[in-house]
Amino acid sequence: MELNDVLAEVRATVGTVTTGVVTSAIPALARVDPHRFGMAFAGVDGEVVGVGDWDEAFSVQSVSKVFSLALVLAHDGEALWTRVRRQPSVHRFNSLSELDGDCGIPRNPFVNAGALVVTDRLLGITGHAKESVLALLLTESGGGPYVDHAVAADEQAHNHRNSAIAHLIADHGNLHHPVEDVLAHYTGHCAIAATCGQLATAALFLARGGIRANGERLLSAADTTRLNATLLTCGTYDAAGDFAYSVGLPAKSGIGGGILAVIPGRGILCAWGPALDTHGNSVAATLALSTFTSITGWSIF
Ligand code: GLU
Repeated sequence: MELNDVLAEVRATVGTVTTGVVTSAIPALARVDPHRFGMAFAGVDGEVVGVGDWDEAFSVQSVSKVFSLALVLAHDGEALWTRVRRQPSVHRFNSLSELDGDCGIPRNPFVNAGALVVTDRLLGITGHAKESVLALLLTESGGGPYVDHAVAADEQAHNHRNSAIAHLIADHGNLHHPVEDVLAHYTGHCAIAATCGQLATAALFLARGGIRANGERLLSAADTTRLNATLLTCGTYDAAGDFAYSVGLPAKSGIGGGILAVIPGRGILCAWGPALDTHGNSVAATLALSTFTSITGWSIF
């Protein structure tokens, strides 16, 4: 079956999703039409195909954590894992539970606590974490992604929970930059807007064993495999087990409704639908990805 036909079948299966709710955590995102849906596939050979609203920019939110983590792993390798663990969490992504008991070492790099530590480290490496994440997205996608400053400002104005998390980590000595700087850069890279096609293309290094668009290496093959393993176990909030069961791919979701999924050796999928389930994963994007892997058999299992 041709990929365009697969995507058309996925589109028909998803239909008009009537369950789930758009996030209310960031007021600017609460106004997004819940019925938007798009999906793109970017192949390791350069082919990019999409369906629906795949060329419409949306707020990537936690999907940006894949790119910040890749930059830090590229620089630090294993040393990062002294500051953040790699275990799935049974708590919500913005929970303060476990942090105090675990001496400020977050459960994994994809819950907010872990991503704040990664952003702090990226600040130490490049001096400007938000700009570094955007630059990686721009270089790898070929252009298009941008920081939506209205979304960033809106989140900054409602950032009490992330602020509490960051202060608790700082109290344990696991932040090396001022809390306000870490929050501003973290919120800034979450507020990047990109299309499904751009995001899928930008993440191709994860399907190519760590090789960037220009042929240079970003990550070692081993670190790429490990990043993908961490995505599988921790990338879709506290529903990672269910997601692995139904989709079978390493993936990262965001409360903007996007989900990025890696098919090692083949390519990257990105699906977007703003209405979220109770865990924070997009209902339409999850259904789209599970339909895609059912039709193609391209899960990692
Ligand atoms: N910026 C959002 C937050 O920090 C991202 C959450 C998400 O997409 O999981 O809560």
